[in-house]
Amino acid sequence: MKLIFVSGGVISGLGKGITASSIGRLLESRGIKVSAIKIDPYLNIDAGTMNPYEHGEVYVLDDGGEVDLDLGNYERFMDLHLTRDHNITTGKVYRAVIDNERRGEYLGKTVQIIPHVTNEIKRRITSVARESGADVVIVELGGTVGDMESMPFLEAARQLGRDLGRGENVLFVHTTLIPIMGSVGEEKTKPTQHSVKELMGMGIRPDMIIGRCSEPISPAARAKIAMFCDVPEEAVISTPDARTIYEVPMNLEKQGVADFIIERMKLGPMASGRDMDGWEKFVGRIVDPCMEVRIALVGKYTALADSYLSHLEALTHAGAASGCRVEVGFIDSDDLQSGNPEELLGDADGILIPGGFGTRGVEGMVAAARYAREHKVPFLGVCLGFQIATIEFCRDVLGLAGATSTEFDPDTQNPVICIMDEQKGVVDKGATMRLGAQDVVISEGSAAHALYGSTVVSERHRHRYEVNPEYIARMEEAGWRFTGRSECGTRMEIGELEDHPYYLASQFHPEFKSRPQRPSPLHRGLVDAAIAHSNRRE
Ligand code: GLN
Repeated sequence: MKLIFVSGGVISGLGKGITASSIGRLLESRGIKVSAIKIDPYLNIDAGTMNPYEHGEVYVLDDGGEVDLDLGNYERFMDLHLTRDHNITTGKVYRAVIDNERRGEYLGKTVQIIPHVTNEIKRRITSVARESGADVVIVELGGTVGDMESMPFLEAARQLGRDLGRGENVLFVHTTLIPIMGSVGEEKTKPTQHSVKELMGMGIRPDMIIGRCSEPISPAARAKIAMFCDVPEEAVISTPDARTIYEVPMNLEKQGVADFIIERMKLGPMASGRDMDGWEKFVGRIVDPCMEVRIALVGKYTALADSYLSHLEALTHAGAASGCRVEVGFIDSDDLQSGNPEELLGDADGILIPGGFGTRGVEGMVAAARYAREHKVPFLGVCLGFQIATIEFCRDVLGLAGATSTEFDPDTQNPVICIMDEQKGVVDKGATMRLGAQDVVISEGSAAHALYGSTVVSERHRHRYEVNPEYIARMEEAGWRFTGRSECGTRMEIGELEDHPYYLASQFHPEFKSRPQRPSPLHRGLVDAAIAHSNRRE
């Protein structure tokens, strides 16, 4: 078993997740099978209950795990399919330890952070690593070295180094900040030195230091860090500002990161790996696009771009496939409720309404869906966006007064979106939230079929409410056609508007399965329709 721990120092937000993902991508390019684990030192069991303003989007896995968005980066960069066990939180660890204690499994001992909590952390890391079957598992330690809540995890990492063998089997990569100060533009290495000292105080000597700096660091700064932090010069790496996050693996490759790790960890010659040429071409298309389109993203968490991270990435993937830069304009749905849609949406080549929960901002989203439908602006609705498109259609085309979801008005006259259990005959066994990958059956001849090129696809879900079966026939007759359904046929998964260049919505979240060289088909459809829309307008 080989583990690479990636810790962070000085400040948070250094792009540790991107660095960890990029290292993984590089190792894969050498034929090494890689997996990844994210450690989050918070007491929540998982990210499912967290508001996106806390930690950004809640990423959903095939198995229904609601996890930290870094797992999305791992899946995108390394093209993995992870499970919820790849996100270890303090909450999960403590719960397990306390459950064991109640069952008497500690045989009367005093239960302590060391060894009981640290053993549980080690057990989880090693069991996930073993089950993944990977040659190397990258373990990203959330938080910053020195935080009180990270300490048990760092201690467990130190012990694993001792148990499995430092260097060959366990490598420590520490990411820090190298600020450039003053008019002379000198790189400052002191924060890195302090942070490494802190790490060494925990008994961990880093094998590699990756410094975030606006520029590539100078040989003098590199030598200084190497000397003070006691690592070889070739193990001091910098991650200068990149034009796109997808460029980071290439920047690391140029500095010999993969060679260093392969040599240190004695990762013998491997079979041919994943090709980097395709990746480089993909990056080339992002940084050197032929044209640009503007997509308005209408949501309620728009003050934090990370709330919609997977959508932004899916749009980047889709844009790259067509050689187009996608400029995303965030529109707060509350502003649309009171404001003029033409003013806020008039310059958009496409409109995207992503997922969301709760009543705030819903009427603004309905206004955006109406604007897109009436002005024939390309439109994609996802999850809540699908429900909004359905509500808007029922109100305006079917004339169903006050049509809405029972999520927003439990007593509405026209509950066109509701919880299935509420409908007689369709009982959803106890599931409070429908989570994870499920098959969607797509009708031949539909726009969705043209985009997916398949009649059965697996996509990820995270919702409670859905289209009320009682209204389906009326909606379809009037032109809101359900071209994607669940396997049993009772759940509506995709809606398409007839007589519109691109007006499509899905109950599932296609953004979670979008990959750099395999964009989400529905985002691809939106971007391509936006290109056509923009060309028509010129
Ligand atoms: N709030 C809606 C539901 O629970 C939509 C959820 C979402 O967009 N993820 O069904």
